[in-house]
Amino acid sequence: MSAMLKVLQLPVLDDNYIYLIHDPASGATAVVDPALADPVQDALNRHGWQLTYIFNTHHHSDHTGGNLTLKQRTGCKIIASRDDKARIPGLDTGVQDGDTLLLGEHPVEIMATPGHTLHHIVYYFPHDNLLFCGDTLFAMGCGRLFEGSARQMWESLQKIKRLPPQTQIYCAHEYTQANARFALSVDPLNPALQQRAEETVRLRGKHLPTVPSDLQTELATNPFLRESDPALQASIGLSGKPQVEVFTHLRQLKDAFV
Ligand code: ZN
Ligand code: FE
Repeated sequence: MSAMLKVLQLPVLDDNYIYLIHDPASGATAVVDPALADPVQDALNRHGWQLTYIFNTHHHSDHTGGNLTLKQRTGCKIIASRDDKARIPGLDTGVQDGDTLLLGEHPVEIMATPGHTLHHIVYYFPHDNLLFCGDTLFAMGCGRLFEGSARQMWESLQKIKRLPPQTQIYCAHEYTQANARFALSVDPLNPALQQRAEETVRLRGKHLPTVPSDLQTELATNPFLRESDPALQASIGLSGKPQVEVFTHLRQLKDAFV
């Protein structure tokens, strides 16, 4: 049995989260989506950790902006989709769906989740019940479709849905409060959602993070995982329609929501 991983959450820019994952047994440390180098460097120094890996979920600059500086300063290896070589600064090791890496003795499974971008990947720690999902799944929301189709994003979310319900969901943005407002507009009678929306307002009122959540909570409250729910379907006038059609409409409604 390997010891527990430590996860450190760094709020940066307007609403991004950078995550440091440290394995005390081996000393291995990864950072997920370093938008900036300095806050990561400060955290490493504070804890006396050495950076082993950068794990990028996708190429956007608010997820890769610190890549080259951190690589230069620490000699870490940069991991990202092998299909995004041209857009990931400093990529060392290209990975694809189904690959498994190790952080110390902790397996890390790569899942391809196209939709937000075509080569978006997520990092799943099956022994530790952790998912680092970048801009694919958010608390009560999902990523915008910049490159992929609604069907691709829906299929990506189906993969995440099949993970164990206790999986901790570490997404890359604090969008929760705005997501809750949209969720209530399409699923207004859902008591679990009503309760979570209130809790979100309370936490954000104190500037506290609402992330991570867990998959069970998302399944109960996130409209983008609830496209088969009869009450939600009825509330947007799509009762009995195929799930992918309901999902596509939800994504369009969210894009137009103010
Ligand atoms: Zn993005
Ligand atoms: Fe982002």
